[in-house]
Amino acid sequence: MFPTTTIASYHEQLKQEQTSCEAAVLFYLNRIKQNTHLNALVHVFEEEAVQQAKDLDAQRKAGALLGALHGVVFTIKDVITYKAHPVSAASNMLKGFKSLYHATAVEKLLDAGAIIIGTNNCDEYAMGSSNENSAYGPVKNFLDIERVPGGSSGGSAVAVQANLCMISLGSDTGGSVRQPADFCGVVGMKPTYGRISRHGLIAYGSSFDQIGVLAHSVDDVASVLSVIAGADDFDSTVSSLPVPDYSDEIKQSSTKKPIAGYFKETLLHEGLDEEIKQTHLYFLEQLKKDGYEIKELSFDLLDYIVPTYYILTTAEASSNLSRYDGVRYGHQSTPIKEDLTEFYSANRSEGFGKEVQRRIMLGTFVLSAGYFDAYFTKAQQVRKKLYEQSQLVFKEVDVLLMPVSPATAFKIGEKSNDPVEMYLADIYTVFANLVGIPAISIPLFQHSNGLPFGLQMMAKHFDEVSLLRLAHEWMQQYGHKEQ
Ligand code: GLN
Repeated sequence: MFPTTTIASYHEQLKQEQTSCEAAVLFYLNRIKQNTHLNALVHVFEEEAVQQAKDLDAQRKAGALLGALHGVVFTIKDVITYKAHPVSAASNMLKGFKSLYHATAVEKLLDAGAIIIGTNNCDEYAMGSSNENSAYGPVKNFLDIERVPGGSSGGSAVAVQANLCMISLGSDTGGSVRQPADFCGVVGMKPTYGRISRHGLIAYGSSFDQIGVLAHSVDDVASVLSVIAGADDFDSTVSSLPVPDYSDEIKQSSTKKPIAGYFKETLLHEGLDEEIKQTHLYFLEQLKKDGYEIKELSFDLLDYIVPTYYILTTAEASSNLSRYDGVRYGHQSTPIKEDLTEFYSANRSEGFGKEVQRRIMLGTFVLSAGYFDAYFTKAQQVRKKLYEQSQLVFKEVDVLLMPVSPATAFKIGEKSNDPVEMYLADIYTVFANLVGIPAISIPLFQHSNGLPFGLQMMAKHFDEVSLLRLAHEWMQQYGHKEQ
């Protein structure tokens, strides 16, 4: 019965009275207790979740109209606010802080009958690719506890991977949903920038940040997206385009066979693991054999995307994180310093971890008067070029394919002393955020080292329907096979 395969099968079991929401919550609570060594959760709302489950069971038995996510057990990344519950962005800066309001996505989950069982460990303020930058310590990959789960939504990916919940919400500024999904062998999707409200998502790089979904199946991602996407008065950057019923849409096959493309430079890149490269090439051949038109495209900006991403996101982060001064909330150093500058400095030096401090300094530097044009303005210009290129790409193809990460999950500690090496590994994920398009990682492949890796698929702005439909189709067709 548990773990469930999809929301639909769980709902069917509830309908047949073969199980209950309470049984679901108890199952996942038990899994959480058995797997505390993974360090994937920072808070568990045990009693509350059981009570919610009981209430939902009672409502269902009384014949009430059921929400789309009735009794679905979620965890949420520790950067998404849940009213009256702790949220800390995995930082000492916010330890002990409780949210004053619900994130819009959380409000929508709860309205649809979801149960939030806990919050997930992550990289501090979502800055990282390995979940090693957390005030709560690193998260362990369930498949090999000596390895990282990826980041920054590492706890969310592991919570799904190890069946500590059914579905998890993460956030993706430069790959933080897709890359941990890739390392853990689950599905991870970041929708178009502006598809889901960012209200209640702790900001890192506001023009990049999007909430994303991690799950075992594309169907579940589609069901959740249908609930949490859409207009919101609290976020002026969110789109008011109508929200399709994604789970219904993906059941209908596309009218014409989609055209897929890939940038040849991405597969030729020297940093890419040879086996990941060969698997992708083999997969492209397979697609051709199966009648898909595959276009090889050229992309001469590949080497610029990581620097552009890190200039713009650190600039935005330095501004976003200036609010944590310890005056109204946040860490306050004791004894309290008399001098105001010393007071700020002590609070922020003790509250923020090393990586966050590094990025604040980098961001402050690229925005500083003497360097603004050389770095920030230049990076904005590159971003514009990338945007224009992406528009051209999606005139030629329906879906753009790419690896998610140049390598499979690495050992804890292996890269933590070399931030630049860690940044460079974001080469395949930051494109989607720089241009704002939707992207998904699906766990199609297995490396000879025993670890999973995914295929990344991207589509044009707001074309989540085509993206999810094809991802769903390919999971059915090519998933769970030895490559
Ligand atoms: N690894 C990227 C970074 O460190 C992505 C983070 C994210 O998407 N939140 O910035």
